[in-house]
Amino acid sequence: MKVGILALQGDFIEHAHMLRRIGHESVEVRLPQHLDGLEALILPGGESTTFGRLATRYGLIEPLRRFIYSGKPVWGTCAGLIFLAKDVGRDQVTLGVMDIRVARNAFGRQVDSFVAPLNVKGLSGGPFTGVFIRAPVIESVAPHVEVLCTLADGTIVAARQDHMLATSFHPELTDDPRLHALFLGLQLPTADHAVF
Ligand code: GLN
Repeated sequence: MKVGILALQGDFIEHAHMLRRIGHESVEVRLPQHLDGLEALILPGGESTTFGRLATRYGLIEPLRRFIYSGKPVWGTCAGLIFLAKDVGRDQVTLGVMDIRVARNAFGRQVDSFVAPLNVKGLSGGPFTGVFIRAPVIESVAPHVEVLCTLADGTIVAARQDHMLATSFHPELTDDPRLHALFLGLQLPTADHAVF
């Protein structure tokens, strides 16, 4: 599958490494023409206002929206989640395609980053290690958005709307490819992710 990763800023290389481990090469997306022929797209972690500024400068906002509206799978991790959201509670450029309200930096500052075991709907093989780095949370979702994961206190940290997936945390910074595989619609035997 030809997978693109938005490569304006942030941890796009870590996503590429994870995809390679499960047998998929990826394309770095920096300009509109880089979207040609892609079958799926990942928006990485990073800094969402920078994504907005650079995507505007490179003429990427409308091409990215068109790509997503065409129904191809898209996944935003952390800043990528913010970039997908319709409502971020402040004035910044986002793609505005996912019916979620997001609060940025919801757990505090960089030093308040943490790791937590998560149960993600649809993911077999036990808890997934959630890496939260100055992470956003999803404050609310529209009725047609499916919540995939919450913290113990009910805070929403992963959701899906049709072909759009959003996670507050960073699967690309773990050694567990299950979510990348899930995103690409691949089947991995439950216990086998450890061998990659
Ligand atoms: N705090 C960043 C933002 O608001 C997101 C952090 C991340 O992607 N790890 O854009």
